[in-house]
Amino acid sequence: MPEAPAAAPRLLPTVSIVEETMRQALRAVAVALACTALLTTTLLAERLWSSAQLEHAADRHAQANRLAGEIRLTEQELLQAAQSAALTGEASWIERYDRLTATLTQKVEHASLLVPMNVAQRYRDKTVDAANEIAQMRQSALNALQSGALDAARSLFDGERYTSRTRLIREATEELTAVSLAATESRVRELRTRSYAVAAAALTITLGGGFFLWRRLSSGLKHSRGSLLDAEVRVQRLAASDMLTGLDNRAALHDAMQSRLGRAERLNQELAVLMVDLDRFKPVNDRNGHMVGDLVLKEVARRLGRCLRQSDLRARYGGDEFVIVIDEADGMRTAPAAAQRIIETLSEPMFFGDLTVSIGASVGIARYPRDARSDDELIRKADSALYRAKKNGHGEVCLYDPKLDEALAERAALEAALREGIAGGQLIPFYQPIVSLSRRNVVSLELLCRWKHPERGLLTPDKFIALAEDSGLIGPLTLSLLNQACQDMLSFPPSWRLSFNVAPQQIQDENLVPQLLAVLKDNHVPPHRLDVELTETALVNDTARARAVILALKRAGMTVTLDDFGTGYSNLSYLSELTFDKIKIDRSFVQKLKTDQQSSTKIIEAIIGLSRSLGADNVAEGVETEEQADMLQKLGCRNGQGYLFGRPVRAEELQQRIALAADLVLPLDSQMMVDVLL
Ligand code: C2E
Ligand code: CA
Ligand code: CA
Repeated sequence: MPEAPAAAPRLLPTVSIVEETMRQALRAVAVALACTALLTTTLLAERLWSSAQLEHAADRHAQANRLAGEIRLTEQELLQAAQSAALTGEASWIERYDRLTATLTQKVEHASLLVPMNVAQRYRDKTVDAANEIAQMRQSALNALQSGALDAARSLFDGERYTSRTRLIREATEELTAVSLAATESRVRELRTRSYAVAAAALTITLGGGFFLWRRLSSGLKHSRGSLLDAEVRVQRLAASDMLTGLDNRAALHDAMQSRLGRAERLNQELAVLMVDLDRFKPVNDRNGHMVGDLVLKEVARRLGRCLRQSDLRARYGGDEFVIVIDEADGMRTAPAAAQRIIETLSEPMFFGDLTVSIGASVGIARYPRDARSDDELIRKADSALYRAKKNGHGEVCLYDPKLDEALAERAALEAALREGIAGGQLIPFYQPIVSLSRRNVVSLELLCRWKHPERGLLTPDKFIALAEDSGLIGPLTLSLLNQACQDMLSFPPSWRLSFNVAPQQIQDENLVPQLLAVLKDNHVPPHRLDVELTETALVNDTARARAVILALKRAGMTVTLDDFGTGYSNLSYLSELTFDKIKIDRSFVQKLKTDQQSSTKIIEAIIGLSRSLGADNVAEGVETEEQADMLQKLGCRNGQGYLFGRPVRAEELQQRIALAADLVLPLDSQMMVDVLL
C-alpha cells in the first residue's frame, strides 16, 4: 500500500502574524497610557497634598515668627512696666505688669506648641525655677511697694538675682522661638525634599516602565519579524515546489541546477540529468479519472524519494515527466544504474483501495560535462534521449547520443517543410486502380499521397505519413488531397469511385465527417462515390468512437473498407460490433502465394469466407502477376489492386489513357480499359 501522502504544508498565517504584532503594539500603548494616567494622578495627588502641607507649614512658620516678635515686645514692655512700677510705685504699672506677665506666659505656651514636645518640655524644665523665683521676687516687690518701701522694691528689680533670672528666661524663650522657627523651616524643607523625592520616584518609575515596555515590545516585534521571515521562507518554498507532489517545480529545478553546475565546475565533478517519463500513465488517468492520476503522481514522487539520495535533485517537470539530477562524483553510482532502479521501483504495482494500477517508466540521460554544460541544454538532451527510449519501447533507459539530435533536428526541419508543403500544394494525389477480378474493369481508384519535395523529389508516404500523423498535420493533408481528388474525379468516368485513406488518429477528430462532406459538397461530388479505408489500428483502440464514425460515414452515403486486414490483431471481436462494406486482404498474404502457397491460400480463403459471412465485399492488394490474380479469383476474391493492373499514377496520366481508350472507342469499364491502363 502506498503511504498516505505527506500533509500539504499549511498555508502561512501571515495575517495572524501581523495581527499579533498589532495586538502587542496596542497592548504596549494601552499599558503606557494607563501607567502615564496613574503616574499623573499620583503626582497630582502628591502635589495637592504637599502644597497643603507646605501652606500649613508656612502658616506655622509665620505664626512662630509673629510669636517671636510679640514675645520680645511683651518682654520689653514687662521690663518697662516693672521698672516704672518700681520708680513710681503706682498700682496701674503693677496691674499692667501682671497683665503682661499673663500675656507673656500665654504666648510662650503658644510658642511651645509650635516646637516638638521634647523642646517644649526642656524649655519648661529650664525656666520653671527661674519663673517661680521671679514670681516670688515680684510678689515681694509688690508687697514692698504696697507698704511704700519703694527702694526695697526697686532694689529687688535692679538686683543681680532678678536680672539673671529674667535673662535666663529670655534666653530660653529666645531659644524656644528660634527652635520653633527652625522646626517650621525644617518641616518646609522636609516637604520640599519629599516633593522632589516623589517627582524623582515618578520619573524613575516612568523611565523603568518605559524601558520595560520597550523591551517587551521590541522582543515581541523581534518574534513577529522572525515569524514573518519564516513565513517568507515557507512561501518561497511553496512557490518553488509542485503543489501536487511537493517536489521542486521547473523554476526551482533550473535554479538548483545552475548552482549544482557551478559547484561541479569548481570541483571538477560529473553530473547526470535523468528525464523520467511514466509509461501507461495516460490510460490510467483516462480510465480512472484525475483523482487516481493525482494519487499515482504522488506515489511516484514518494517512490523516487525512496530510491534516491536526499541530496539528489527531484523535480516534476511536466504532467507525468520528472527530472532527477544526481552527482556521479563517488564513481559508485552511475546514472544508468540509478535509472534502472527508478524504472524497477516505478514498475511495481500501486494499490489504491481496491484499485491496482501498473505503470512503468522510461528514462533519458544526459551528462555534464560531456553532453552539455548548461541546465537548459542538459534537459533538452536528456529529453531527446528520453524520446529515443520511448521509441524503443516501455521501460527503456537511453543515454544521450549526438546522432539523436541530428535525427531530431532533421525531423523538425521535415515537419516544418511538410507544413509548408501542404499549404503550398506540394502534397499531390496519385491514383491506383482497383479492378473487378472477373470483369477486369475499374471499380475504384485508391488515392495514394505523394510529396513533390522541392529538393528531394517525389517522396512516397513512408517518408512523411507517420510524421504528419505525429505532428497533427494529417488533418490538413487529408482535406487538401480530397479537395484535389474531387476536382480530378470530374474527368474520371462516373462509375469509378475513390478509395480514400483515413489515418487512425483522425477517428478521434469530431470534425472529420463534416469536413469530408463539406469538401465533397463544394466540389459537387456525391458522397456515394467515396470509399473510406480504415486500418484495424483505428478500430481496436477506441471501438465505440470507430463505430460512431463508421455510422456517420455510412449515413452520409459513403462506404467503409477495412484496410490491411490480417496484419495487426488476432482478436477480431471488433468485427461483430462494426459493419464494413469491404475487406482488403493485405498484400503480404498475396505475395506469399508464390513462396508459401499452402498457408497463405488458407488465410486468404478464411478472410474471403469471413467477408462473405459479414456480408461484405473483398479486395486483394499487391496483385503483381496474372498467376496471383487467377489464384485469388479461384479462391473467391472479387476485386484486386496491384502493379498488374496499374501503379499509382498522376491524374493527368490516367486522363491521357482514358482519352486513348475513348479514341479506340473502347467501352470504358471493360477488360480493354485495364489493358489501356496497363
Ligand atoms: P496502403 O493503404 O496499404 O496502400 C497500398 C500501398 O501498396 C501503396 O503504397 C501502394 O503503392 C502499394 N502497392 C500497390 N500495389 C502494389 C503492388 O503490386 N506491389 C507492391 N509491392 N506494393 C503495391 P504507398 O503509396 O507507398 O502507400 C503506403 C501507405 O501509405 C498506404 O498503404 C497508406 O497506408 C499510406 N497512405 C498513402 N496515402 C495516404 C493518405 O493520403 N492518407 C493516409 N492516411 N495514408 C496514406
Ligand atoms: Ca489503403
Ligand atoms: Ca493496404
